[in-house]
Amino acid sequence: MDAQARKLCSNLVPAAYITQGEQARNAHENKIKHLLQHRKIPAEGWTDQTIELLLQELAVMDSNNFPGNCGVGEREGRIASQLVAQRHYRLAHGIGRSGDITAVQPKAAGSSVLMKLANSLVLDAIKLSGIQSVSSCFVVPMATGMALVLCMLTLRLRRPDAKYVVWPRIDQKSCFKSIVTAGFEPVVIENILDGDELCTDLETLKRKVDELGASNILCVMSTTSCFAPRIPDKLEEIGELCKSKDIPHIVNNAYGLQSSKCTHLIQQAARVGRVDAFVQSTDKNFMVPVGGSVIAGFDRGFIEQIGKTYPGRASNTPSMDLLITLLSLGASGYKKLLAERKEMYGYLQERLATCAEQCGERLLSTRRNPISMGVTLTLANDPEGKMATEIGSMLFTRFVSGTRVVAPGKENVVSGYKFENFGAHSNDYPHAYLTAAAAIGMTKLDVDTFISRLEKVLAKCKQTQSGDSHDAEGNECDLSGVENGSDLQSGDGGKSSIIYVQDQL
Ligand SMILES: *Cc1c(COP(=O)(O)O)cnc(C)c1O
Repeated sequence: MDAQARKLCSNLVPAAYITQGEQARNAHENKIKHLLQHRKIPAEGWTDQTIELLLQELAVMDSNNFPGNCGVGEREGRIASQLVAQRHYRLAHGIGRSGDITAVQPKAAGSSVLMKLANSLVLDAIKLSGIQSVSSCFVVPMATGMALVLCMLTLRLRRPDAKYVVWPRIDQKSCFKSIVTAGFEPVVIENILDGDELCTDLETLKRKVDELGASNILCVMSTTSCFAPRIPDKLEEIGELCKSKDIPHIVNNAYGLQSSKCTHLIQQAARVGRVDAFVQSTDKNFMVPVGGSVIAGFDRGFIEQIGKTYPGRASNTPSMDLLITLLSLGASGYKKLLAERKEMYGYLQERLATCAEQCGERLLSTRRNPISMGVTLTLANDPEGKMATEIGSMLFTRFVSGTRVVAPGKENVVSGYKFENFGAHSNDYPHAYLTAAAAIGMTKLDVDTFISRLEKVLAKCKQTQSGDSHDAEGNECDLSGVENGSDLQSGDGGKSSIIYVQDQL
């Protein structure tokens, strides 16, 4: 409402009340002005009401919402369903124009502002996460694998003769497939074992680079966040190598933004060497639905070029989800989530170590992996890992999601390439194991519940293995069937016999 409208209001109710209402509205509007001026995450989170006010203000600036607008084009932002209109706050024009995903759309001033604000706030989040010298980023409505494809296709414009992408092995399909989908030949660098940790084999990487010839290499694709027992790649050394050989360096930072160790590696690699772009998923780092990723880098020109390589327009949903989330959390809320995650990492590690020990297993010593960790599964008479794999499905049926069981012996074909022991990041890791991750948003209750269910599953497996039908306290155990009850209700108390618990939520 403008001044004139408010004046008219004061003909209806006493002017003093209207003045007070105006002050309240100003409080919202001042936040919006501050945001537009600084384009940074607000120090404290906004209320939903302020956020919705901003979104409404943006929506009325788009042509599909102009009163009396007469659209005679083929893209007029018409929405058939009111539910869909509401779901998008009536912002229907998406982002970008046919030639550039970061371009302003004349028909949609509001959507364009939203896109620019989202990119600015995400840049701020990247800095808060520890990559201070990042210069530019943008949100793409594709998950990480496809965003990596876009980066590689942009690099191709600069290196038309390059055929190879050098890739220290990480057993995650989408990053490997991104290389093949982009039309390049992956050159896999196997990891080396250091204690329990699997890490970058720099010597082999260097030798491969020399063998192939720098100009034939499109880029080295390194990885920060990964499942234990692999640890983040030696980013600094790879960055230095890339700089000295003039080879681009793309970093797959899928869920690494939430870890100060991963972001530190990227910052350092860029400082002492070369990082052309680093890519992270929006859902894994910012607790939004799957659908987007962020492409970021230190050279504004290159990041802009990637944006221009994107053919056509795109959904604004990932940008809007991020804008809403970062406004809602505020810098303090975001930093709190990062701090809590770090704390949960320590807690999960401690609980898993104890749990493993009690079951005759051990926590793998992979301290240099800041998110994921593993526990050995040494099961007798289980050469093909059937029993180990069964542990994974037993956990899943008990509503534990996200653990991975890796047992040796499997061969896998990914995009036509054969991998031995795919999942283990290595042809011959010496243990079967189970992994779990302390990712952003994890709570202490998640850890406690997981450990309680894992203890039961492991105990049951060990007993089945030893052919013993008695639990640790000599009580008769029922290993055969399904019992009622929930381990949430029964707790552990050390008393309950080991039963096949059908979890109930
Ligand atoms: C999630 C993830 C990716 C990308 O997968 P998308 O489904 O494309 O987001 C790549 N590498 C790793 C290590 C990941 O965790």
